[in-house]
Amino acid sequence: MDFLINGGGSDVPEVLQKEMQKINDAYFSISKSHEFISELRSIRKHFQGRPTPVYFCKNLSEKYGGRIYLKREDLNHTGAHKLNHCMGEGLLAKYMGKKKLIAETGAGQHGVALATAAAYFGLECEIHMGEIDIEKEHPNVVRMKLLGATVIPVTRGLKTLKEAVDSAFESYLQDPVNSIYCIGSVVGPHPFPMMVRDFQHIIGIEAREQYLEMTGELPDTVAACVGGGSNAMGIFSGFIKDEDVSLVGVEPGGRSFKPGDHAASLVYGTEGVIHGFRCYLLQDENGNPQPVYSIASGLDYPGSGPEHCMLKDSGRVVYTTATDTECLHAFYTLSRMEGIIPALESSHAVAYAISFAKKNPHKSILVNLSGRGDKDVDFIMAKFGDGKSYLD
Ligand SMILES: *Cc1c(COP(=O)(O)O)cnc(C)c1O
Repeated sequence: MDFLINGGGSDVPEVLQKEMQKINDAYFSISKSHEFISELRSIRKHFQGRPTPVYFCKNLSEKYGGRIYLKREDLNHTGAHKLNHCMGEGLLAKYMGKKKLIAETGAGQHGVALATAAAYFGLECEIHMGEIDIEKEHPNVVRMKLLGATVIPVTRGLKTLKEAVDSAFESYLQDPVNSIYCIGSVVGPHPFPMMVRDFQHIIGIEAREQYLEMTGELPDTVAACVGGGSNAMGIFSGFIKDEDVSLVGVEPGGRSFKPGDHAASLVYGTEGVIHGFRCYLLQDENGNPQPVYSIASGLDYPGSGPEHCMLKDSGRVVYTTATDTECLHAFYTLSRMEGIIPALESSHAVAYAISFAKKNPHKSILVNLSGRGDKDVDFIMAKFGDGKSYLD
């Protein structure tokens, strides 16, 4: 399948296609300039706190075997990798002379990261969010408002992410001269999958250098969780040319492998179109996206980035799943044994690392710890308590 012809293929209305072309052209000229590169470098260092460390999990490795390392994106400002591309998109907007950043958000993580970027650059920010999500994700709504963003409740249809995307695109098309749409992962029409990957590449560049410096070699395996796929593309792109390093994308296996019980589009999906791009999609007989589920709200997307689809087809990356139960075990274990409370999304990759270590006692694995779990602790305590039954 040709997922990468013009990104995932821009399956979008003609007006939008023209705007995407303009963003593409601006990105190619601006992002190569010395000024842009040095400003982004300075932001990463002084505002975001990069480079984030690579950490050796001594206790976990002793218990399960192998050598488990984490790339600590949980220590990036705002607590996850998403700020990497939001600061890049914000800087591009500034150079393009835009006044407003527009996006949708599901659980609110992308909305908070983008509102942070908007505050930094002194830009307006408009976040479209389904009414149902607004009720569920109250703390993130408060954060966005504190950061100065306008949160627009979306009341049509199912009142969740899909409708929020439509609403955000419509708002953007009303004034594409002064505003720019900022997507939340390596998804959507070209040039977004490429741009977001480029801005996330810093994770892989840093991690490769840090790992080499710490150990004198490269890891046997690099693993990351995959929702849309941005944190995974970020770390994978640092190792893609290292043929001896195997790359593993971990999707949410949810409650079971039945449709509606998971969100593993690369493992179980078929070729389809969503949000203006072609990818492996969880869809019904009519090509409509199926309902998806994961314990981690940042992973419950029915599609996946076009570059991941290509990497699956070429065999360079292997995609697998971790279930809710495995994710919870990893969440509690990392908290208890290493003093790091991971995001539920990232816990999927940690779960893979634990099973890898058990099977490969002489091998090393580097996990992208995409975010911290502070956002999840209330939900976890209310639903699963101190987690004694999940620890081994
Ligand atoms: C949003 C999010 C993800 C999933 O997004 P990707 O684009 O697949 O990286 C993973 N981890 C955390 C902490 C997130 O906030």
